[in-house]
Amino acid sequence: MPIRLLSPEVASQIAAGEVIERPASVVKELLENSLDAGARSVTIAVEEAGKKLIEVADDGSGIPSEELELAVSRHATSKLVRSADLFSISTLGFRGEALASIGSVSRLTVTSRVQNEQEGARLRVEGGAASKLTKVGTTVGTTVRVEDLFYNVPARLKFLKSDTTERRATDALVTRYALAYPGKRFKLSDGKNVVLQTSGDGDRRAILAALYGVDVAKQMLEIQSEEEGFRLTGFISPTSLTRSNRRELTFFINGRWVHDVSLNTALLQAYHTLLMVGRYPLAALFLEIPPAEVDINVHPAKAEVRFRNPDKVFSFVQRSIRRALLAYSPVPNVAPSLWGITRTVPAEQEPRHVGLDWAIGHDEQLPGGSSQSSVNSEQLPADSNQSSVSSESSMVRGPSSTGSIPLLRLIGQIGATYLVAEGPDGLYLIDQHAAHERILFEKLMTQHAMKNIPSQALLTPVAVTLPPSSANILITQLSVLQHFGFDVEEFGPNTFQVRAMPALFMGSDPSAALRALVEDFEEDESPLQNEIEAKLAARVCKRMAVKAGQALSTEEQRALLNDLEACDSPRTCPHGRPTMIHLSVDMLERQFGRRGAR
Ligand code: ADP
Ligand code: MG
Repeated sequence: MPIRLLSPEVASQIAAGEVIERPASVVKELLENSLDAGARSVTIAVEEAGKKLIEVADDGSGIPSEELELAVSRHATSKLVRSADLFSISTLGFRGEALASIGSVSRLTVTSRVQNEQEGARLRVEGGAASKLTKVGTTVGTTVRVEDLFYNVPARLKFLKSDTTERRATDALVTRYALAYPGKRFKLSDGKNVVLQTSGDGDRRAILAALYGVDVAKQMLEIQSEEEGFRLTGFISPTSLTRSNRRELTFFINGRWVHDVSLNTALLQAYHTLLMVGRYPLAALFLEIPPAEVDINVHPAKAEVRFRNPDKVFSFVQRSIRRALLAYSPVPNVAPSLWGITRTVPAEQEPRHVGLDWAIGHDEQLPGGSSQSSVNSEQLPADSNQSSVSSESSMVRGPSSTGSIPLLRLIGQIGATYLVAEGPDGLYLIDQHAAHERILFEKLMTQHAMKNIPSQALLTPVAVTLPPSSANILITQLSVLQHFGFDVEEFGPNTFQVRAMPALFMGSDPSAALRALVEDFEEDESPLQNEIEAKLAARVCKRMAVKAGQALSTEEQRALLNDLEACDSPRTCPHGRPTMIHLSVDMLERQFGRRGAR
């Protein structure tokens, strides 16, 4: 074939391929345009997961009628003149490509009016071809309608994921932008219901609740850190709140949502030794740095950036987060007994500073122990902790992952977190949370296998409102929940009513159970029913299990040991972590120099 120049239509479809990958990318580009136009309010409507319709309306500055045709042409932008400006850019857009790209793969209508014009104008673009401009009466601002996305690129349509997944991507995007711009009003609807609405009053925590649910939002720690023109704000989860994947790590740099491996690493390093292996925090962080410090022109969808001084950014982020984590001390939370034995714990006896503080114990000597204290990385405990942990672990024999456990004699509870017991062959330290997780899981799975999970009606049904993305998942799982003894019904937008729950969990919070069921749900999770069910069971048991830091009565401790002894796999929790550590008589003798002294 001879070499030919591509036709403009083909060229722009190829270009569109880089920028417009899925409905959420359209929403992102349009949102960014609205924000660039100084909008105070942005209204987004998405129908059929964005395949039928995406409409973004704003009250921004608008596009003058005579520029409308230019706006939908490739490489036409009002945001950049010289290439040198790329390094001092303060707008989100600058490539002049979004509208043209969208117009080449959909039926696009742009309606806009500027302040000093009486009338607005409307332009339609179909598969890249623009129609004639028409005058229309409209308010100041811009409305962009994108219909039948990818109607002329069937291959793209085939690459889209399920409607649920595509919708979730859009929900997640809009919610994160709302969080990044708390001073703007956002409204997202799906044709029937309002999925998200923010007030624009600047309150980030309220928006955080829309993203993660009220429970989680309340627990998130606020970050505010500033150094030499760098600023980091936002929220991170305490160490007690984790997920099984990195999907909840959100970074904005100068108002732009980016995916940056090094920022994620800085964040995770700040949590080093504070989290279990395989667990990840949640974070929504907003980094502001001088525009000259970052090159934003390295990715077609502007989703990646390059730093002029990556080490500086890395250590600033890591330090800021570590400082916030250390300044935080968890408030113990005594949940209702899960054994049906009610107990009152006098306030002063409540365990304090369990868990996290053990891992970071010596940081209490920090001046004032407050968030403002300056901690430099040399003082960080990570490494010292690391070494002491590893030298200890050479002394204790980790449990093998299978096999039953011998009869144990309870000695007591330490740190309101571990049970101490004696067996025929030495000392056992049992993690009460992991052990209880295992017990609940096996009971639930046994009942499940016998197709008989006793369900108990709640005296008063509980209404639970979930973040939109979780609500969408839950709707698809209602029948699975039924098998598990949950009676849950839809009860208005994003709201569910729990009428009954497994008798096994009676006495604990039904809304926590429901949230546990959906919070870690993987995107397009395996449709294999058995796998889903075991996973759901493990998740909900984890949430319902007694926590570290919860003082237990002697009866409760004994019941826990007995139940654990009865388990098929008592040595690990359903997530594979050990429930116990065994210090054998043999090993104790060696350590005390009674036998074969080193
Ligand atoms: P870019 O944002 O990179 O400049 P776009 O193709 O997204 O490129 O938009 C082209 C131009 O159209 C923008 O530079 C801007 O002048 C104008 N424009 C697009 N959307 C809006 C909007 N919502 N409000 C005002 N002007 C807009
Ligand atoms: Mg743009």
